[in-house]
Amino acid sequence: MPTLRVRLPFDGSPRLTQSFGARPEVYKQFGLVGHNGIDWGTKVGTPILAVADGKAVEIAFKDDAKGADANGFGNYVKLEHAWGQSLYAHLSKVDLKKDDTIKEGAQLGLSGNTGFSSGPHLHFGMRVSPYNTGDGWRGYTNPAWFLLGAGFNEAVDSAQLADLSRKLQTAQQSEATARQELATAQSGFDFQRQELTTQADLYRERVSDLLRRYAGQIPPSTDLLSSLEILVQKDAWNFERQELTAQANLWREKVTELLRRYMPGQLPANADPLATLDALMKQWSEELKQARSSQLAGLAASFAASLPPVEDTLSSRTRARSRSN
Ligand SMILES: [Zn+2]
Repeated sequence: MPTLRVRLPFDGSPRLTQSFGARPEVYKQFGLVGHNGIDWGTKVGTPILAVADGKAVEIAFKDDAKGADANGFGNYVKLEHAWGQSLYAHLSKVDLKKDDTIKEGAQLGLSGNTGFSSGPHLHFGMRVSPYNTGDGWRGYTNPAWFLLGAGFNEAVDSAQLADLSRKLQTAQQSEATARQELATAQSGFDFQRQELTTQADLYRERVSDLLRRYAGQIPPSTDLLSSLEILVQKDAWNFERQELTAQANLWREKVTELLRRYMPGQLPANADPLATLDALMKQWSEELKQARSSQLAGLAASFAASLPPVEDTLSSRTRARSRSN
């Protein structure tokens, strides 16, 4: 329990109307996790007292029904203490100026109904050092813990109850969330298990189908795993054959298209394109051979034509021999 003790900000015992942490749904609009102080139903004009020795660090006052902070604390006083700060809000009158010092139990103003308020009350807040203004409570902590003492226990008890019920609510929400997450995970697992079971069933079917198809191709004494291995190899070979067939078909189509494009009318409707191409190649090479031999014949003829007549050559030789004899 904290060792810091402060007095109540009034004399008498007004009713505690709202505990610290209450109505998170209302205080969300102020960027708060919940009510960040304690409210007491003080009548307008009730003297409000400093809970400890301190100094006024912030004064907000406007002589108006709604006060200085019309949508929030209305007219208020914030005191600085050795241990932190105290706040007194919704006041009708303020007796301090900024930087005034004040003694514990001295009057700092009168309670009222200014600002965000549905009836005359005092909102009392405490910041205890070290505090963090970004903690969702703007650094305020439950004052009930520091108000323990004669006449204050009732307030503390109800504040404690409110705290406990808030914690219980949070715990219940976490439990519900955890249960939901568990259910989601469970259904995710169920789905995966089903998927795997389906795959396993499919595989099992495929295997039994393969075994049925290739029955007789596997030696009778072969165990299941070896049988599967044999079948897998067969299957791979089938796959390869399929691939080759597909490629051959593509090639055949390509050749057909070429023949149609370059040999219009020469390819009978039902002709096997590869055989046709083969025949055409043979024909073309024959034609080429013939063309070459006729070219050779032509060359030989023109060469022969360039020689002197055969008769002349023979008679001149004869003549030369008879002269040497
Ligand atoms: Zn309040």
